[in-house]
Amino acid sequence: MKHKIEGFLDLVRQRNGHEPEFLQAVEEVAETVIPYIVQHDIYHGKNILLRMVEPERAVTFRVNWVDDSGEIQVNRGYRIQMNSAIGPYKGGLRFHPSVNMSILKFLAFEQVFKNSLTTLPMGGGKGGSDFDPKGKSDNEIMRFCHAFMSELFRHIGPNTDVPAGDIGVGGREIGFLFGMYKKLRNEFTGVLTGKGMTWGGSLIRPEATGYGTVYFAQKMLQTKGDDIGGKTVTISGSGNVAQYAAEKVIQLGGKVITLSDSSGYIVDNEGINSDKLAFVMDLKNNKRGRISAYIEAYPTAKFFANKRPWNEPCDIALPCATQNELDGNDAKTLLENGCICVSEGANMPSNKEAVSAFLNAKILFAPGKASNAGGVATSGLEMTQNSLRYNWTRDEVDSKLQEIMGNIHDKCIEFGRDDKTGYVDYVKGANIAGFVKVADAMLAQGVV
Ligand code: NDP
Repeated sequence: MKHKIEGFLDLVRQRNGHEPEFLQAVEEVAETVIPYIVQHDIYHGKNILLRMVEPERAVTFRVNWVDDSGEIQVNRGYRIQMNSAIGPYKGGLRFHPSVNMSILKFLAFEQVFKNSLTTLPMGGGKGGSDFDPKGKSDNEIMRFCHAFMSELFRHIGPNTDVPAGDIGVGGREIGFLFGMYKKLRNEFTGVLTGKGMTWGGSLIRPEATGYGTVYFAQKMLQTKGDDIGGKTVTISGSGNVAQYAAEKVIQLGGKVITLSDSSGYIVDNEGINSDKLAFVMDLKNNKRGRISAYIEAYPTAKFFANKRPWNEPCDIALPCATQNELDGNDAKTLLENGCICVSEGANMPSNKEAVSAFLNAKILFAPGKASNAGGVATSGLEMTQNSLRYNWTRDEVDSKLQEIMGNIHDKCIEFGRDDKTGYVDYVKGANIAGFVKVADAMLAQGVV
């Protein structure tokens, strides 16, 4: 088996040797999915995984825009259309200086499995730009988004490819992107998700990724007769996913003690309650400030510059910032401090060593493609509401989100439980369950 996996990975490395994040994501999937393919004749010998690691289409384009001082700026735009076997391409746009092909291909590849797990008809894609929104004026953000969409609009559409937000792309950016799409196409369609409530958005979409990550943690804890109430929780990030993960933990009676951004983390051992979280939301979403400002408002808290929160003792850790933000040493520290549950809000936040450490220690560990799928699932619900030209209530969307997270959890158990020990390997479960649905569709559609 090792030989088969290595043979496959060698081929992928030859073609994509300069794309470390993409290779990391493929390796993790190959290690669990290839043994399953070998045991199941219908998939064997069809090169399905080899087809799945090659994007169906990848577009890169120039984005010219004029900054506030009149200078012409040039950025690079991307859209990776990874797999459309089960529905239109679907996945977020990321605006961050680190964006490159490797990062977007890893995200698009993960998205294929994640979208399959949601049970909704969505293929996988991802896109973005190396544009850095930090420190830009609202007018600069608008000009950039308009310029970006003036090329992207050719490649997307409500039945082709439906982008959403990701790092650096929130409600403000989706508004500007949607405005330009609508103008160029002269039609009002659900081509982007994460829209504002008065122009086609869905209730609960902003909350969905964070809430879903916590619902998934709750489901895992319930398998042990436990729950979030009374637990100490560390969270990284302070953006969309982190904010709503914190809100849901607080609602369920847990105690959130950390939040972070790329400049460092804050720890508040008295607990970040709803009032303090409202302060963070205003700081981050309206004032676009840094997390260190928290200690000026709440002086008993501490700020650690350029550090991550994983040294703080906790029962549950929710990494909600970015990829590879939790390494093998962090995982060791978390385990030594008694952490029993890790639910990933970000995409691939735990590196390979960290994932192995969690699985070897047999704690409850959910990979992002399962635990953060609530965001895209609710985007799928936004698409459905757009098609129906109808809005569901907050409770209706929230209960559908909870049902979907429960279904994903059940699928992970079905494909990830070890019959002998009873331990559930959610990584294996998510990879195989996500693979099977896409692979069956690819087989049915032939070699296209
Ligand atoms: P936001 O841009 O709203 O927030 C990102 C947060 O992570 C910020 O606090 C940011 O700090 C921090 N961060 C970003 N890059 C780094 C870095 N290199 N080192 C340390 N901190 C960093 O993004 P989201 O909350 O939307 O996304 C967070 C994660 O969740 C990403 O991995 C994304 O792919 C994933 N995700 C998001 C979904 C969504 O619906 N939004 C859906 C599923 C997954 P700073 O402000 O300093 O940059």
